[in-house]
Amino acid sequence: MGVRITHDCVTLYCSTSGWAFGPVFEDADQAEAFLEWTKKHVGRDLRLLSDEELETEYRKWLSSTAECRECGDRFDLVEDGSKLICPDCLETALEDEGVR
Ligand SMILES: [Zn+2]
Repeated sequence: MGVRITHDCVTLYCSTSGWAFGPVFEDADQAEAFLEWTKKHVGRDLRLLSDEELETEYRKWLSSTAECRECGDRFDLVEDGSKLICPDCLETALEDEGVR
């Protein structure tokens, strides 16, 4: 608990005000994946959301996406929440096996 200075994690910030906000991400790829997801599913400027609204969207993102065990990218889960690899890696795996 307490105020921390980021050294090895990533946060979102407003480039106009220089003010950081929102969740702390492990790396820039994870933050980028969240931003991409919010463009599709939130459709609002994240700076206009309250802390509670942003936390709700972050939790939705975590529960509706998974980290690919092959490439580490986050991808949208569709019907089958048990998938562990993203569509790109699945396609590559199927090609490698000669299925496609
Ligand atoms: Zn992948």
